[in-house]
Amino acid sequence: MTHLASITVINSAGNEEYIEYFYNPDTKTYHTRITEDIFMTYELFTEELEISEETALKEIAMIKTCPDPDNKMCQCPVHRSGHRFGI
Ligand SMILES: [Zn+2]
Repeated sequence: MTHLASITVINSAGNEEYIEYFYNPDTKTYHTRITEDIFMTYELFTEELEISEETALKEIAMIKTCPDPDNKMCQCPVHRSGHRFGI
């Protein structure tokens, strides 16, 4: 799997979410791994999903416009959009 991009956001539940994008050259498919840091319980919840090429490329393009993707406090339009990445 090739790592393509990542972004850290605060999700609608107020938890920190780290979203990574991968490409599998064998199956020519795109995948995300979403790690949510559950503030209330101090648990890490991870899920891995296959997503469409269209969604993957659109969101990676969005992330590339952000000056500091892994800064959850970033105030750029992408971070402020409330967009749910990686699903
Ligand atoms: Zn940003």
